[in-house]
Amino acid sequence: MSDLVFVLNSGSSSIKYQLLHAKSGEVLASGIVERIGEPDGKIVHEAGDTRLIREGAIPDHRDGLRQAFELFNDTGIDLKTIGITAVGHRVVHGGEVFYQPTLINKEVLETISRLSKLAPLHNPANVIGIESTLELLPGIPEVAVFDTAFFHDLPAPARTYAIDAKLAAEYDIRRYGFHGTSHQYVSEQAAKFLERDTTELNQIVFHLGNGASASAIRGGRAVDTSMGLTPLEGLVMGTRPGDLDPGITPYLMHIANMDLADIEHLLNRESGLKGMSGVNDFRALGKLIESGDAAAKLAYETYIHRLRAYLGAYMLDLDRVDDIIFTAGVGENSVEVRADSLSGLERYGIHLDGSRNATRTPGIRRISTDDSPVTVLVVPTNEELAIARAAIDLVD
Ligand code: ADP
Repeated sequence: MSDLVFVLNSGSSSIKYQLLHAKSGEVLASGIVERIGEPDGKIVHEAGDTRLIREGAIPDHRDGLRQAFELFNDTGIDLKTIGITAVGHRVVHGGEVFYQPTLINKEVLETISRLSKLAPLHNPANVIGIESTLELLPGIPEVAVFDTAFFHDLPAPARTYAIDAKLAAEYDIRRYGFHGTSHQYVSEQAAKFLERDTTELNQIVFHLGNGASASAIRGGRAVDTSMGLTPLEGLVMGTRPGDLDPGITPYLMHIANMDLADIEHLLNRESGLKGMSGVNDFRALGKLIESGDAAAKLAYETYIHRLRAYLGAYMLDLDRVDDIIFTAGVGENSVEVRADSLSGLERYGIHLDGSRNATRTPGIRRISTDDSPVTVLVVPTNEELAIARAAIDLVD
């Protein structure tokens, strides 16, 4: 059977896609459709050495995907006939219902749509992505892989909010966690690298991208994570604040006359690094710090302070820690973030090797010293590959 999978990550304002072989991970083509719904939309499509850029209005997700399919044709790939075995979808919220890769049918699609109440910014875009591929690639099995799945079985105290239990039950309020596909993938890759089984390892993962989350994993099972009912909780992120006193919301409503829409916009788009410094991109933040910008410096220090608080909590929770993993855009690339997150922790068994940390090589790498009791690793994440493999396994 062919192991060719089309993976779609249909987000609120962008779509990422890949056509890849699930076994080898070889990518035949990939692309990103950006600024959907705005007049200056853009598609960057890559296939082998060819890079095509298309600019212009992309009214909606369906049209974005239709245009991306045209670019496949322009590079000589007909997705309908090339022999795709499965379509894999990243779906953000599976609620209490979905915690395994799931074959999509009408009922599943309706349930994902119903779960939009828990992820109003994400699940509706996922649903449109699924509807579009069902239409554009008829007859190919489609599989949903859920961002919340890895955290479904968090121990009860780690998944429970200390609020009215009846209210929580009635409205499905619990800590769900996100980025689960990435946390699971990098923790498994780390185990392979260390030639150990995940069941033998206690691991801490920092997924630091635009969104950022941490997890504590005992013996292959997630026992805590920093994101909650929504992806707003936990670490400081590009545009989200992470942990906040819940009292800030009613305070702003009273004192600053903000309504619900204002608060949602503030928390999702205008907080975090952007709120503190004006920029959400880590490279831009670095440049501001170099230029002596005090707000940017404070934003960075707050980011590190929060990250270390989670590290400390998870170290106590796990008791013995075998490895700490950094992944995603910031985690894989920022020498400073890794160094500052782990500085001065030698008495807890964490010995970073400064030169290894500063040396960039492709693939997984160890950045702790050889005799460090806790191994520190940089593990490139690959959610598309994890989704492709999950889809193929299910269809098989
Ligand atoms: P997303 O959550 O959008 O998938 P990514 O995992 O791609 O995010 O991470 C995006 C973040 O990674 C941005 O803040 C970007 O600045 C940061 N990043 C990318 N490359 C570097 C680099 N070389 N040094 C520092 N930060 C980087």
